[in-house]
Amino acid sequence: MILLDGNHTSSVIRKEIQVKVTQFCQNDVRSPHLAAVLIGDNPASQTYVRNKIRACEEVGYASTLIRKPATITQEELLYIIKSLNDDPQIDGYIVQLPLPRHIDEHAINLAINPEKDVDGFHPYNFGKMALGLPSFHPATPMGIMMLLDRYQIETDGKHCVVLGRSNIVGTPIALLMSKKTKPGNATVTIAHSRTNQLKEICQRADIIIAALGIPMFVKSDMVREGAVVVDVGINKMDDPGSARGYRLVGDVDFPNVAPKTFAITPVPGGVGPMTITALIENTWKAFYKKW
Ligand code: NAD
Repeated sequence: MILLDGNHTSSVIRKEIQVKVTQFCQNDVRSPHLAAVLIGDNPASQTYVRNKIRACEEVGYASTLIRKPATITQEELLYIIKSLNDDPQIDGYIVQLPLPRHIDEHAINLAINPEKDVDGFHPYNFGKMALGLPSFHPATPMGIMMLLDRYQIETDGKHCVVLGRSNIVGTPIALLMSKKTKPGNATVTIAHSRTNQLKEICQRADIIIAALGIPMFVKSDMVREGAVVVDVGINKMDDPGSARGYRLVGDVDFPNVAPKTFAITPVPGGVGPMTITALIENTWKAFYKKW
């Protein structure tokens, strides 16, 4: 069984980006610059943003964190977005989700300049991705594609079952896996909360990509021998024995599924770090095309 190690792969890709930054950003050329907008004090969001800023430092990017309380109005947030759109020093930025309930996520997404939309959530970029045109791809599916690519996992002609149809993971990874690309060229089934006979569908999969948000949902009897399993889930499970009182588990019952697989991602240390690396890669693209 091959462990698809997102930590290791990320560190290799980030070193490659760091070399590009060092070589390119000399004399009058400034470093790439990513901004992150963090609203409220959701602990998971704070951790994600902290990790993104840390990754920027690792590769030599400049970064700016804009923190505002959860009481911010939509108009105030739109004003921040406008100033980021207008700032020539900012190459790309993200607005960390989820946003407080009184803010319309779609309106915020639409206000982001697609040229700086390094999260790839704007309909302009999403539409271009669907058409197979160059664009920013959403970070998590892009990170999965980078991981499959680096491990040279064969996807051509394979049956890929995607569990979940969210706009940030399930739908875009299904699109990317079905495109005429490498990796890609898979025959994709999208399964979701209303899918019948899910177990049988999963049993026929060469590749399973689990993005449901249900801890250890994918059991060993759903996975056939030699399948490739990508676990996107990040779920907290009570663990009184650990220092934090919880541990992170994926959407796959890793201990029982892993021995049957050809390759599998761990949680943590699989898709998570690749997501941040994809964001770093998108920021490089946003920066580089200006010069
Ligand atoms: P979501 O809640 O938006 O979507 C979940 C999807 O699962 C839905 O489309 C739903 O139809 C489907 N689903 C629910 N129950 C199901 C069932 N019984 N059978 C089949 N499908 C079912 O979640 P999301 O934002 O796509 O995230 C999914 C998971 O991935 C979460 O655990 C999240 O924390 C994690 N995540 C990880 C990363 C990362 O970087 N590793 C990034 C984003 C999300």
